[in-house]
Amino acid sequence: MRKPPGEGKKRKTVPGRRNKKPEFTENPKTAGGVAMIRPIVHDPIFLAQPSAPATAEDLPIVTDLIDTLNANRDRCVGMAANMIGKKKRIIVIAKGPILVAMLNPKILAASGEYEAEEGCLSLEGTRKVKRFKSIRVTWQDLQMNQRVGMLDGFQAQIVQHEIDHCDGKLI
Ligand SMILES: [Zn+2]
Repeated sequence: MRKPPGEGKKRKTVPGRRNKKPEFTENPKTAGGVAMIRPIVHDPIFLAQPSAPATAEDLPIVTDLIDTLNANRDRCVGMAANMIGKKKRIIVIAKGPILVAMLNPKILAASGEYEAEEGCLSLEGTRKVKRFKSIRVTWQDLQMNQRVGMLDGFQAQIVQHEIDHCDGKLI
């Protein structure tokens, strides 16, 4: 999801810090630690196709997705794997400076419907969309362990936007 204007606190500019990677809660397996920044897919026909479940073999996609989100971090708060051409149910979201990867994310419960306006790195402009303020979500982490958590507000919105990508839905 595209970073909304005014979202997040203005950070102090520290020279030389711009290219510093955010810390991770989990370390994905990397191919020698080489960053693989992928081009962003804009093709609406490709993006309208639902993604297949992710498995442990898809972990290199997570690394690429993290690298690509990092490269676009100034204007992007979350990405789904199909945005880099991989039709697998994998998303990465920003929680402040931390990036969290979720494999096979699924919303179990949602409450507090509202109308949001969102932008997307794959699309031009912004669109109105119905979102839920609070969601209960399950996913698999990088060790393929099943996790469950509650998300509210902006983080919940990002996850809903990225799960829509996995379902082939565009805002
Ligand atoms: Zn998007």
